[in-house]
Amino acid sequence: MKSAIFSVGTEILFGQITNTNTVYLSQKLNQMGIDVLYHETVGDNPGRVKKVLARLLMEVDLVITTGGLGPTQDDLTKEMAAEVMGAELKIDEKSLKKIQSYFAKTGRVMTDNNIKQANLPTEKDGFILPNDAGTAPGCVFVKDGKIVVCLPGPPREMTKMFEDSVVPYLHTLTNEVIYSDMVRVFGPGESQLETMLEGLITGQTDPTLATYAKEGECSVRITSKRGTMEEAKAAVEEMAEKVTAILGDTIFSYHDEDLKDVVAKKLIDRGITISCAESCTGGLFAGTLIGVEGISAVFERGLVTYSNRAKVEELGVKEETLERFGAVSEETAREMTAGLKKKTGSRVCISVTGIAGPDGGTPEKPVGLVYICVDFDGKTECREIRVRPVSRNWIRNYTMLMMMDMVRRAIG
Ligand code: ATP
Repeated sequence: MKSAIFSVGTEILFGQITNTNTVYLSQKLNQMGIDVLYHETVGDNPGRVKKVLARLLMEVDLVITTGGLGPTQDDLTKEMAAEVMGAELKIDEKSLKKIQSYFAKTGRVMTDNNIKQANLPTEKDGFILPNDAGTAPGCVFVKDGKIVVCLPGPPREMTKMFEDSVVPYLHTLTNEVIYSDMVRVFGPGESQLETMLEGLITGQTDPTLATYAKEGECSVRITSKRGTMEEAKAAVEEMAEKVTAILGDTIFSYHDEDLKDVVAKKLIDRGITISCAESCTGGLFAGTLIGVEGISAVFERGLVTYSNRAKVEELGVKEETLERFGAVSEETAREMTAGLKKKTGSRVCISVTGIAGPDGGTPEKPVGLVYICVDFDGKTECREIRVRPVSRNWIRNYTMLMMMDMVRRAIG
């Protein structure tokens, strides 16, 4: 089934409110296997509401409108939908009584224009959607295989009506379900990822693959639309295996988990203690890991050894090493980790030193140069990374993610 979401409200066009209704409805419809082809927004203008609705119905089977169901003169969505669908509206006594009692209960005076809210389609053209969270009822118009669902604008009323009445109705119309999973990847960039998956992406029908990039990491959404949830799930899992054969251990989650959560869970589940010594990330790694519930069972110590003095005093880094190789060097990173191990005895010890910029770079040691050294039960790995020098925060954040990934790989 093809659908469109149609928001009515001048305040949306003015940028005074964010169109959260459309985001909500799009997510819900997609989850139900209903394709959303258009998002449209118009102000409270009857002519344009009518014109856009008629145009949408030429291409889609279902239009869901939100807003413009209230009592005022400019609330005309329902009236325009009735015109487009060739339906008539009549005062529905039951709805009118409900509106009257709502006003009585809340101690407010019901003005005459509120009666308009009970002007609704009759059984021959559609049906009424009760509003249990406000006054304006919603309604559905059905004609010649086309459906228009009119919902109120306030998100609290709209979502309740959608969940309670529209979802059950739509389930009777569609016999397809959607299942999707997000495979999360650290390492390749988005274009590299697309190239790697090209063979699977080209000519795809079902399941479909879509790649996304966010700061420092990428994701692949695998989606399948089938007759039953079991079939859709099986198709997604089969595709996930093909994706795994290509991306291997750059994948850290198949179910849209954050890298920090994956790493924390591994540490907690296996009772592996961890400590860190951070220079350029300034506690970002420790802070991020400590943001995960239950980490106290394994997190031992986080040191911010920013200055040379701190590296010497806290971790026993040799003055000579700092002088000879510099604070940002593999040698210093190794000594930081060794010192941390000695001090804490944690099974995982990780340290980082780098140049976050924007100043402090040289041709030999540019901004973004970072050394990370991780030790797990005596097995040490040290890496030199050249982070894209987008900004100080980008470098710090990417470095933190890289540290997480090195811990993930180190503990296996
Ligand atoms: P009311 O009876 O409150 O007038 P209505 O159905 O006529 O309801 P509108 O007048 O269009 O709805 O909008 C009422 C309020 O609902 C808006 O001021 C805004 O706060 C919220 N709203 C409307 N449309 C949206 C939207 N698309 N996304 C988020 N909020 C919205």
